[in-house]
Amino acid sequence: MQDRQFGRVRLIFGENGGKYPFNHSLYLQGDKERVVIDPASSLEKLTRLKEEGVDGVWLSHWHEDHIRYMNLFDGCPVWVSERDFPPLTHLETFLDWYGIEDQGARNYWQKEMLETFDYRPRQTARFFRDDQTLDLGGLSAQVIPTPGHTPGHLSFFFPEEGLLFLGDYDLTSFGPWYGDAYSGIADTLASIHKLKAIPARRWVAAHNTGLYEENPGPLWEAYENTIYEREGKLLAFLDRPKTLAEICAAWLIYGRPREPREMYEFNERVLIGKHLDDLLHRGKIVYEDGCWRKVESR
Ligand SMILES: [Zn+2]
Repeated sequence: MQDRQFGRVRLIFGENGGKYPFNHSLYLQGDKERVVIDPASSLEKLTRLKEEGVDGVWLSHWHEDHIRYMNLFDGCPVWVSERDFPPLTHLETFLDWYGIEDQGARNYWQKEMLETFDYRPRQTARFFRDDQTLDLGGLSAQVIPTPGHTPGHLSFFFPEEGLLFLGDYDLTSFGPWYGDAYSGIADTLASIHKLKAIPARRWVAAHNTGLYEENPGPLWEAYENTIYEREGKLLAFLDRPKTLAEICAAWLIYGRPREPREMYEFNERVLIGKHLDDLLHRGKIVYEDGCWRKVESR
């Protein structure tokens, strides 16, 4: 797709439609500083960008499909939320934050992170302050904390262009991801509500469609509704007590088994786990004798 320029903000569309393991990046051309946000769009485009001039790298969050080509800009300071920094410092911590416990899976992801994503542990980074406004010279950027997807997930608003970078609140039909060790449903909902209320004129998501030049209104509702739909299916499935294995085998989130099987089994399990925690916390279900059971409302 043809990249788009909005004043001093350029949208760099990622390979493969910005689908994992790629994303869409932003390039900020301030008079004082030129910045690339989430450098995982395209090796070719980012290499050209480097020649154009990049003074800093900003990350919306720590996920591998947002940092993939970060090392191209070695020597540039990396900015991230302090809350999302730990997984960038050690590969073991990175795997822990995904909640990967099985040793075989850890080995697989370790190799994948090193070979596909060029993971290199970092000792230092610069930390954004929540809600701060940065002046890049003729372009300002507001840092908007949007936890849930990850604890330190950040979105960015550029008031001059009325452009809101949503990061991974990506408005896809699949719905939001909140399956990591430190991700959560309540925070995800609060962040969706916060982003929806920002008076933007253009919206950029890090994956898939990427650019919305008209208010994505109904898409916000559909995106949020996927959370309630997942919960509804789970509650309906708990018409009698069920084990976690039985629940996962029903593929309530993904609808059917998908390949690579191991990865999707893991994803299904962790997302279901988040909903079980959330429902337990809200007193809608209980855990007894190794099974989850719905609490009948009176
Ligand atoms: Zn992500």
